[in-house]
Amino acid sequence: MTYSINETHDPRLKSFVASANDGVTDFPIQNLPFCVFSRADVHDPFRGGVAIGDQIVDLSALAKMHLLSGVAAQAVQACTEPTLNRFMGMGREAWSALRVALSRLLAQGSAHEGTLRACLIPQSVVEYALPAQIGDYTDFYASVHHATNVGKLFRPDNPLLPNYKWVPIGYHGRASSVAVSGQKFYRPKGQVCGVGQTVPVLQASKRLDYELEMGIFIGAGNALGEPITIDRAEDHVFGMCLLNDWSARDIQGWEYQPLGPFLAKNFATTISPWIVTLEALAPFRAAFTRPSDDPQPLPYLSSAENSSQGALDISLDVFLETAKSRAASDAPNQLSQANLREAAYWTVAQLVAHHTVNGCNMEPGDLLGTGTMSGPKEGSQGALLEITEGGKKPVTLSNGETRTFLEDGDAVIMRASCEREGSVRIGFGECRGEVLPTRGSTSSPRA
Ligand code: CA
Repeated sequence: MTYSINETHDPRLKSFVASANDGVTDFPIQNLPFCVFSRADVHDPFRGGVAIGDQIVDLSALAKMHLLSGVAAQAVQACTEPTLNRFMGMGREAWSALRVALSRLLAQGSAHEGTLRACLIPQSVVEYALPAQIGDYTDFYASVHHATNVGKLFRPDNPLLPNYKWVPIGYHGRASSVAVSGQKFYRPKGQVCGVGQTVPVLQASKRLDYELEMGIFIGAGNALGEPITIDRAEDHVFGMCLLNDWSARDIQGWEYQPLGPFLAKNFATTISPWIVTLEALAPFRAAFTRPSDDPQPLPYLSSAENSSQGALDISLDVFLETAKSRAASDAPNQLSQANLREAAYWTVAQLVAHHTVNGCNMEPGDLLGTGTMSGPKEGSQGALLEITEGGKKPVTLSNGETRTFLEDGDAVIMRASCEREGSVRIGFGECRGEVLPTRGSTSSPRA
C-alpha cells in the first residue's frame, strides 16, 4: 500500500528550527530524512540522525530524553546504533510512528522545543557514514530511454532487446564498494580491447563515466521462498536516496557479454547520506502509464494502485566540477536534468515484486539501484556515454574545458527534489564523488 497524506505532510506546518522554513532547504519539517552521522571534530560514535533545515536531530541524544513511548520509543532506540538496519527491519509501523513523533516534537509551538534544541547538531560539523550495512546491492536498468540510447551505441541494429518491455532488467552488483557522498576513488584499470583489436591490454580506463540513479533501501525483508507481491511491495521499502553508479565504458564494452557488467561497475558506487522515506514522498506520487502500443505488465507486475499512483515525481540534476573550476571557485556545470517519473519504465513496487517473484529474499538495508535515469528529452540523459554519443560529441564547460568522459580531479554532484503545487518542496541533499588518478600513477589519462 502507498502511504496516505497525513498531518506530517501539512504544507502549513513549520518548525521552530528557522532554517527548515526558508522555502529553499531540502529539509523542511515535511521531509525528515534519515542518515548515519558522527561529529567530525570529536571522537563520537556513528548513530542515526534526521535532517531538519541545516541541523540534524541526534537520535541517540533524543533516545536518552525519554520523550517517546511505545513503538516510537523502540524505533528511536534502534536508531542509536551505528547502522539503521535494525530500524529498517522494524517495518512501516515503526517508521511512521517515529516520523509523526518527530514532526510533533520539531513543530513550531512544540512543548519540548528546549529539549529538542539540546539534540540538534549543525550539519556543517558532521561526517556521514553509509546509513545501513548493505548486504546485497542490485542494479536495475529501468529507463527505457537510457536502454535505447546505450543499445544504439553498443548494438546499432538492435538497440532494445525483446525482453526489455517485459522484464525489469537487472544484475547483482557489489555492496563492498558502495560508499557515502564524498567518496574519492581511484580510476580503475581493466582489460580494454579497442575497435579493430583482437588482443586486449590492461590499462587505466579512458572512458570513465557516471550514471544518475536513485537508490531504494529495503526495510523489512521477506523469507526465502516467499515473494513480495506488488500490493505489499512498498511496505518493504524504507526509502530512497541518490546513487551514482560509476562506470568504465571501455572495460564494460569488452567484458559485458554474455553475463553483463562486472569490473566496469564494481570499483565504486556513491550514494547520498540521506534516505528520504516513502512516506515523505507521498505528496509526489503520479500515475504509472505505458504507451498504448507497448505491452502491459504481466499481472504480478500490475495493480490498480500501481497504475494510479505507482510513479514518483522526482526532479534529478547532475553537475560536474572539474579540478580547474574548483580551484577558480566557479559554480559547477549542470550536465543534465531528468525526472524519475519520465525516465523510469518500471516503478519501485514493480522492481521489488520482480526481484522476489522467484522467492529471492530481501534483507533490511539491501540496496536497489534504479538504473540510469535518462528522460526522453535532450538534456535529460543521465550519463556522459549518452550525452557525448559514445565520446563523439564533447561537452564544452563554462570555463572552456571540454569533456567526453571524466578526467582525474573531476567531481560529479547529483541532487534531487520534489516540488508540487500545494506541497512543501523537499530534497535529497547531495551525492558527490571524485575521481582520483589511477593508483600508482601520476599521469591523467585522457579520452
Ligand atoms: Ca547502472
